[in-house]
Amino acid sequence: MSSVSPIQIPSRLPLLLTHEGVLLPGSTMRTSVDSARNLQLVRSRLLKGTSLQSTILGVIPNTPDPASDAQDLPPLHRIGTAALAVQVVGSNWPKPHYTLLITGLCRFQIIQVVKEKPYPVAEVEQLDRLEEFPNTCKTREELGELSEQFYKYAVQLVEMLDMSVPAVAKLRRLLDSLPREALPDILTSIIRTSNKEKLQILDAVSLEERFKMTIPLLVRQIEGLKLLQKTRKHKQDDDKRVIAIRPMRRITHVSGALADEDEDEDNDDIVMLEKKIRTSSMPEQAHKVCVKEIKRLKKMPQSMPEYALTRNYLELMVELPWNKSTTDRLDIRAARVLLDNDHYAMEKLKKRVLEYLAVRQLKNNLKGPILCFVGPPGVGKTSVGRSVAKTLGREFHRIALGGVCDQSDIRGHRRTYVGSMPGRIINGLKTVGVNNPVFLLDEVDKLGKSLQGDPAAALLEVLDPEQNHNFTDHYLNVAFDLSQVLFIATANTTATIPPALLDRMEIIQVPGYTQEEKIEIAHRHLIPKQLEQHGLTPQQIQIPQVTTLDIITRYTREAGVRSLDRKLGAICRAVAVKVAEGQHREARLDRPDAAEGEGCKEHILEDGKSNPVSDTTDLALPPEMPILIDFHALKDILGPPMYEMEVSERLSQPGVAIGLAWTPLGGEIMFVEASRMDGEGQLTLTGQLGNVMKESAHLAISWLRSNAKKYHLTNASGSFDLLENTDIHLHFPAGAVTKDGPSAGVTIATCLASLFSGRLVRSDVAMTGEITLRGLVLPVGGIKDKALAAHRAGLKRVIIPQRNEKDLEEIPANVRQDLSFITASCLDEVLNAAFDGGFTVKARPGLLNSKL
Ligand code: ADP
Repeated sequence: MSSVSPIQIPSRLPLLLTHEGVLLPGSTMRTSVDSARNLQLVRSRLLKGTSLQSTILGVIPNTPDPASDAQDLPPLHRIGTAALAVQVVGSNWPKPHYTLLITGLCRFQIIQVVKEKPYPVAEVEQLDRLEEFPNTCKTREELGELSEQFYKYAVQLVEMLDMSVPAVAKLRRLLDSLPREALPDILTSIIRTSNKEKLQILDAVSLEERFKMTIPLLVRQIEGLKLLQKTRKHKQDDDKRVIAIRPMRRITHVSGALADEDEDEDNDDIVMLEKKIRTSSMPEQAHKVCVKEIKRLKKMPQSMPEYALTRNYLELMVELPWNKSTTDRLDIRAARVLLDNDHYAMEKLKKRVLEYLAVRQLKNNLKGPILCFVGPPGVGKTSVGRSVAKTLGREFHRIALGGVCDQSDIRGHRRTYVGSMPGRIINGLKTVGVNNPVFLLDEVDKLGKSLQGDPAAALLEVLDPEQNHNFTDHYLNVAFDLSQVLFIATANTTATIPPALLDRMEIIQVPGYTQEEKIEIAHRHLIPKQLEQHGLTPQQIQIPQVTTLDIITRYTREAGVRSLDRKLGAICRAVAVKVAEGQHREARLDRPDAAEGEGCKEHILEDGKSNPVSDTTDLALPPEMPILIDFHALKDILGPPMYEMEVSERLSQPGVAIGLAWTPLGGEIMFVEASRMDGEGQLTLTGQLGNVMKESAHLAISWLRSNAKKYHLTNASGSFDLLENTDIHLHFPAGAVTKDGPSAGVTIATCLASLFSGRLVRSDVAMTGEITLRGLVLPVGGIKDKALAAHRAGLKRVIIPQRNEKDLEEIPANVRQDLSFITASCLDEVLNAAFDGGFTVKARPGLLNSKL
C-alpha cells in the first residue's frame, strides 16, 4: 500500500453542482456546464486561475437542476467528489456553455458553505484517506477477504469481455496494478449502474460498506453477460439450422408434395409471396430477379427499412399482368353502332377510329401510329377514347399528363431512392390488371420539362412500337412488354407537343361544334345523362330546344359542350329541389286527414295520364309536373345571361374591325381597335401581342401608307403621309390573353383603313388572313373553328383568303348556309368586302372635303 501517494485536497473548494451523472473517485467524466453559477466558476476559477490548486473543484452530484436560475442555493448533497479539471471546451452554440473533462480524486464532505455567490465555495473535509486503508477497517482479515472476493469477481467479469480489445486488456492489467481499495469506485463507474446506485457507492464512506455494496453489482453484470452470450450462441445455431432447412423445403415443393408444414407456411407472408412468384407467369428474366430478391428478403430482419421496400417490390412484381389479357371483340359493325350511339356528329373522328379498328381486325399485331385527338376542351376526345375501349371489350385507363415535368412520373424512380415507386404506366397496368388495356394519355400538349428530366423523352420509349415491347421502368428494373397496350393521346393543340413525340402520332383534329350540333348533343346525350344523375325523369322536367339554344348562345361561349353540360346540371339540381319539395308537400296532402286537398285531386288526374307502372312514384309527383324550363326559369336558375350580342354596338365607330382567331380552346372572334392622336409617328400596340402580330401591324401600316393616295387616306391634318404628326394606337381587347399569329393581318389593315377613312366597317363581317407587304392575302389555318366562332357570334359575312377556299368543305352545311364566305387574294378585295358599298375612291372626295 505504500505505493499509494496520499492525496491532500484544499480545505476550501469551489463547488460544481451537477444534475446528471455521478463522478466517483478514480474515474473520468465529461460534463456540460451551462447554469449561471457553474459558468462563473469555470470562468473565474478554471480559465483565469494559474495554479494547480485552481483546477481542483468539488463536484456535488444530484443537485436539483442547477440550470434553473433560482437565487437561493439549492439543497446540496452532503458528500461530493474532489475533481481535477483536465480539459475545458467552450462553445457558443446553441447557447454559451462549456464542456469539462474532470477526473475524480477523492470523496469529501461539506462542513459549511462559506460563500454562495457568484459560485458556491465550501469548507470541506476530505473523506478518503487512502494511505490509512488498513487502519480504517475493523479487522484486516475481514476486509482482506472482502477485497479478495471483489477482485475475483472483477477478474471474472473482465475476462468475459473480448480481450483482443486494447481497452479490455488494459483494464485487466489495471486490476492487478491498482490498489484494491480503489477498485470499487473504478469498477462501479465502468459497469452498467444507475445514477442512484452510483450515488449510494459515493455515500458509502466506509470501505467495507463500499465493497459489500459493489459485489452484488459486479455479480449482476456477470450474470447479464452470461445470459447475453448464451442467446448469441443460440442465434448462431438457429441461423445455421435455417440455412440447413431451406434447401430441404425447396425439394419438397419441387416434387409437388404437400408437406405437413404447409399450413404453417400459409400464415407466413413470405412463403405466400414465394409461392406466388413460383406460380406467376412472369418472364424468365423477371422471375430470376424475383427469386434473387426473395432470397435477400429472407435473410433480412423485418425491422430493416429495406425489408418493406423489397416486399413491396415483390408484391408489385407478382401483381403485374405479365401474361394476363382480355380477348378483343373485333366487330366493326358493332363498333360503328356503339360509337354512333355514344357520340353525335364528329364524323371524321369516328371514321378514322373505325378504320383503325378495321385494320386491327385484319392484322392483330398492329404496329401503327398512335392516334392523337387534338381539339378544344369538351368536344368528346376522352369520351371517344373510352368508347374505343368499350367497343374492343378492353379495360380503359386514363393517364393525366398535364403538368407532369419529371420523367420518373412516366418511368418510375430507381429503388435506391427513399419513397421510390413505379411510374404511371406500370401503375396503370397494375390497376387494370391486364396487359392490353386502352391507355388514354390525356393532355400530351401540357407535358412540362424540368431538371428531373424530360417526360416527353420517356414517353417516346413508351409509344414507339419498335421499342415498347421491352419498356423498362426504373423501379421494376426488368422489361415489361407494352406492345399489346393501345395508346390514344389527346391534346388541345399540336403546337406544344414535343416534335419527336408528334412524329410518332397520327393527329386527328376534333373541331368544335356548331350550335345545331350542340343542341342535338344536349338532347340526345347530355340531358338524359344529367336526368339520370339527378334521379329525375322526363315526366318531371322538360327542356325545349329553344331553351337549349338560349343556354348555348347566352350562357356559354365555348367550342365544346362542357359548360353546356354544367349548366344543364345546374338546371337539373334546381329542378330536383323543386321535385323534392313537391314530394314533401304531396306526402303531407296524402295523409287521410288531408285527402280532400285540391292538390291531391290534380295529382290523381296526372297519375292516370302519365305513368301507370308504379303507384308510389306517381303519387310522389307534385301537380305542376313536368317543370318546363323556359327563358324565365332559365334566368331564375342561371342568373342573367352572361353573353349578349354586342358585336353591332362595338362597331359604331370608325377604327374597329372583327378578326377571327384560333386558340387551343377553339375559334374566337377578336376585336381590333385603333385610334390616332397628335404625335411623332409612333405606333403603340397593346393587348399582350406576340412578335408575329406586331409585325403584321407594321406591315398593315406600311401598305396603307403606300396606298394612301389611291384610297384617299389622310391623317388628321389631311396629309397623305399618314404618320405625319400622328401617333397610332392599336389595341386588341381581352388583354390578359396572349395573342400571336399572322392571321390578324387583314383585320389590322381593315381597322386602320377604317380609322384613316373615317368609315365604319360593316358590323356583320369578320375576317382572317395573313398579309404581305405588297397587299397579298395568304392562307391561314383553323378555318372551320373560326367559321364556327363567327356563326356563334351571329355574324353574317366571313372574309377568308382565297387559298383557303378548299377548307369550306369541312364547314357544316347549316353554317355555310347562314354565313356568306368571301374569298380574297389581296387587300383590295378584303376592304371592298368589309365596307358597305365597297372601299373605292369614288366615295372619298365628299368625305375629304368635310374633313378639310
Ligand atoms: P375532352 O376530352 O375533349 O375535353 P370529354 O370527352 O371529357 O371532352 O367530353 C365532355 C363531355 O361532353 C362528356 O360528357 C362527353 O360525353 C360529352 N360529349 C362531347 N362530345 C360529344 C358528342 N359528340 N356526343 C355526345 N357527347 C359528347
